Amino acid sequence: MCGIFGTISDNAVNDTLKALKCLEYRGYDSAGIAVKNGKDIRLFKTAGRVENLQADLPSDLYGCTAIGHTRWATHGEVCANNAHPFYSYDRNFAVVHNGIIENYLSLKYNLTASGVNFTSQTDSETVAHLLAKYYEGDVLQAVVSTANRLQGSFAIVIESVYDGNLYAVKNKSPLVVGVTDNGAYLCSDIRCISRWADKVAVTPDNVIVVANRSGVKFYGFDGEPVPVKFFSVDKAEEEASVDGDFMLKEIMEVPDKVRQAKKGYIECGGLNLPAKTVHRIKRVYLVGCGTAYNSGLEVAAVSRQMMDIDVIPVIASEFIYDSYPVDSYTLAFLISQSGETADTIRAAERIRQQGGFTYAVTNTVTSSLSFVCDKVINIRADAEYAVASTKAYNCQLVTLTLLMTDLAYLKGTIGEETRNKVFDAMDGLGSAIDKILSDSYEISRLAEEVKDSSAVFFIGKRADYPTACEGSLKLKEISYIHSEAYPAGELKHGTLALMEQGVTVIAIACDSDLLDKIASSVSEVATRKARVICVTPYSVDNATLIKIPVVNRLLYGIVSVVPLQLLSYYVAKRLNRDVDKPRNLAKSVTVE
Ligand code: GLU
Repeated sequence: MCGIFGTISDNAVNDTLKALKCLEYRGYDSAGIAVKNGKDIRLFKTAGRVENLQADLPSDLYGCTAIGHTRWATHGEVCANNAHPFYSYDRNFAVVHNGIIENYLSLKYNLTASGVNFTSQTDSETVAHLLAKYYEGDVLQAVVSTANRLQGSFAIVIESVYDGNLYAVKNKSPLVVGVTDNGAYLCSDIRCISRWADKVAVTPDNVIVVANRSGVKFYGFDGEPVPVKFFSVDKAEEEASVDGDFMLKEIMEVPDKVRQAKKGYIECGGLNLPAKTVHRIKRVYLVGCGTAYNSGLEVAAVSRQMMDIDVIPVIASEFIYDSYPVDSYTLAFLISQSGETADTIRAAERIRQQGGFTYAVTNTVTSSLSFVCDKVINIRADAEYAVASTKAYNCQLVTLTLLMTDLAYLKGTIGEETRNKVFDAMDGLGSAIDKILSDSYEISRLAEEVKDSSAVFFIGKRADYPTACEGSLKLKEISYIHSEAYPAGELKHGTLALMEQGVTVIAIACDSDLLDKIASSVSEVATRKARVICVTPYSVDNATLIKIPVVNRLLYGIVSVVPLQLLSYYVAKRLNRDVDKPRNLAKSVTVE
């Protein structure tokens, strides 16, 4: 989750601040920098955003080597003391860390017993002290010894007073290395260094990096050199800026991105699996976390209407530790906007090890997930800056629906006519969503009523239920109102007890076959004095309606979520929340 960075360059301080701003989507609890000039390491850190850090820096801060960090706290509260970087007890090393050192308590116990004082509650500080403890005249040797003591997930960048190198240690958390003619960049995200470095390498697990002005070397945890390939990347666009909020801008982009996602799918050749593989498939997993999981939930519901094999959506963190069967008849779509979601990457690794075929469905084709999977498809949502995902969800739905439609067609469970109907119907979605966005005033007005709700329940049936899940997630993420999603029929098995004045229920009613059923659920909650809002192309009694256009019955999820994205946005704005950087969230969840 945290963003880490290190550079050897002529403008190390400025480059670090720029990179930290770019990395802030990974966490914004605190920020810090350690700059080496001559033999000194000067370290500055603060709770809050990178702009707070920048405001606190002395004007004479200069150096050609720097490391920096933006934090999403896992161990230790959010405060300046727990901000990275950390000095070692002798101040000869400084480190930044992304991940979790799982054995930190025993390491800390031993270090404390040998007289080391800790300045923070974090797991990460142990690394700095271990480096000092193991240093006996050779920094690489100290790094090797330290790396071998660590368990868990970690990408760590290290600078020391002893030499001009930057060192890094990597296992399970992302770390890319970029080189220029006379410098080097180490970072959690390619996009944040490609403005400087056009040659980059993705560091494999259990590898140590040594970087200096004349190049980069890679070593295993045994200290032996390992070969790692560099590849060329396009220069990233400068960080976008926006008047207003990224989230609203990104919702407004949904129609275009939905069109682009379909175009991209066709241009890249679509499902593109050999007939032999397709015929073997007996089970499909759709694996993701948060919004990405909800997209799997939606597409599984749609796919069950097109094919008769098991299509199973699974939360990635559950998949890893449960016993879901995997064999060579298994196809899995691993869904992650960033492609760096730790749980999803672990799930992909497990599926491959057990003989399944893995497909990364991501907005970042250079991500760690892409390197782990057999195949990669780009959802083409373009960069998403608001931490709460919107347009990426719609593009995940477009891409996954097309993939599953092609799979059903190749497996012979739907004919060419049905396949073409779904593909053609996709072309109408952009204008249907445009219509919803042009009526956004009405949704903004409704937000005024919803904002004071004591709780909000989202309900739906069949493919409308996953939309309810995504609507609920969006609302709680950015407004902090307690919210839950239920299959509509499930309310009467307990949750009706919570219905009373002050509660809002949002029903999604796009499935014409089930309209009477959802109408009964609406009536049940309205009878108990909950306020009901219904997102529907039809007419439903006892509810304030948010009307949406009629589209192909398999594609409603892509459209009906848009009013819910907008409603969450407007509710959060009315509550004065920071919609682009809501509390306790990070865009890229790189710890398990
Ligand atoms: N465990 C470290 C901390 O809490 C790093 C957290 C992370 O990478 O998300 O500071």
